[in-house]
Amino acid sequence: MAPPFLISPYSADAAVESTIPVTKPEKVAKVKLINNVVEGFFDGSQTSEELLKEIHALAATKYDFLVTTRRDLHRNPELMYNERETSAYIQKALATMKIAFTTGWGVNTVPDRIPGEGGYGIVADIGTRKDPCVLLRADMDALPIFEETSNIDDFKSINPGVMHACGHDGHTAMLLGAASILKGMERSIKGTVRIIFQPAEEGGAGAKRMIEEGVLRDFPKPKHAFAMHVNPKVPSGIVASRPGTVKAAAERFEIKIKGVGGHAGYPHLTVNPIMTAASIVTNLQTLVSRNVSPLVSGRVCSVTKFSAGRAFNVIPESAVLRGTFRALTTDSLLDLKNNIEHIVNSTATMHGCQVGITYSADWYPPTKNDEQLYEEFSKEIGAMLSKSGEVLELDPSMGAEDFGFFAEAIPSSYFMIGSGSGIEPPTDFGLHHPCFALDESILPQGVELHLNLALRALHMLGETDSYSHA
Ligand SMILES: [Zn+2]
Ligand SMILES: [Zn+2]
Repeated sequence: MAPPFLISPYSADAAVESTIPVTKPEKVAKVKLINNVVEGFFDGSQTSEELLKEIHALAATKYDFLVTTRRDLHRNPELMYNERETSAYIQKALATMKIAFTTGWGVNTVPDRIPGEGGYGIVADIGTRKDPCVLLRADMDALPIFEETSNIDDFKSINPGVMHACGHDGHTAMLLGAASILKGMERSIKGTVRIIFQPAEEGGAGAKRMIEEGVLRDFPKPKHAFAMHVNPKVPSGIVASRPGTVKAAAERFEIKIKGVGGHAGYPHLTVNPIMTAASIVTNLQTLVSRNVSPLVSGRVCSVTKFSAGRAFNVIPESAVLRGTFRALTTDSLLDLKNNIEHIVNSTATMHGCQVGITYSADWYPPTKNDEQLYEEFSKEIGAMLSKSGEVLELDPSMGAEDFGFFAEAIPSSYFMIGSGSGIEPPTDFGLHHPCFALDESILPQGVELHLNLALRALHMLGETDSYSHA
């Protein structure tokens, strides 16, 4: 695979021309203040409260920048592997901050299945460009959803049928905010913070592509990766997570059933694929209830699309089912896959139909918080940033997240930041809902979480190598 191409940080062509106006970045003066504090922090962790306060103050100064950035991105959402203007916007912002970066990351290797060339990912190293190194990741793609939000006419999606309904606009804004503060304190960072803007999270395995392209291999190799996701079902300001598996492993399927079409009045001369498909749907529902011990939970198989036929008096030739199955472990997911194949094949055979199953190009592994890293480090940082003073421990989610590829490769932590304010306009619609709206007041909190995780992890890595088992 061709390596990403380097963009010179200060040249005039540093950024691709964007149609979106770029917000002026922060003033530099304020950031100088923190250099001493960071030095103090690295001299001994006793000053960590001080660092927390300083980062809090700095993040608060970014509020206008964060909101403008998030709204600019929200207005112009782009689907996975098509994040061209989003990428150009981020590149321009980084160039304005005088942050060197590379782009060309996240090339689409399955253009026959997912439209778009990809390659819009961005990576920037801030700090010494030497060990130790930690990675902060934001995702940047939107969803094929018609936006139905109210009261945000000035930044509602201008791309019909495409919407930032998963908060990735907010995630990108948060990481840009963190990047600008990190750049301001770059000389006092004891190591490297690799920030990555990752495309194609919504089913395109953009994280896997970037790993294949070397984002975890390139010197200095990141020892830990951190990411966060807004969560409208958790009250704003509450940081949530859990040790171990946070999000499920997931795979998608398409089942094509071929029978023999014909006149609806002469069913004996046909093999009806609709009957077969209906039986498959019913039988698949027994997967979780009958095939797995009642003591083993954490699996789901949902058929989400059933299409067949076009006329009331014609038995069609074929039927198509689509859906997803998820599990909390990789073994469980593969077990589920075997069971699905068995049920689909035997049901089709029973009905005299032919059948074929295809899967996605890349199933997602579970997103797992490394237990040691979480219990001994990340949980404490999350608690410091949580409005309640502690990390809300959630059940594992059956949603999937391609940060799982990073967490599979190196000890990592993944947090959720509550964004459900319960006030008007309501921000507690679920992720992927056409009315999803982000409580923008949490944007600085995301910046703070990024900065505290990165700086304190570097401090920890500078003192001990106990987490380097990757
Ligand atoms: Zn999503
Ligand atoms: Zn998301």
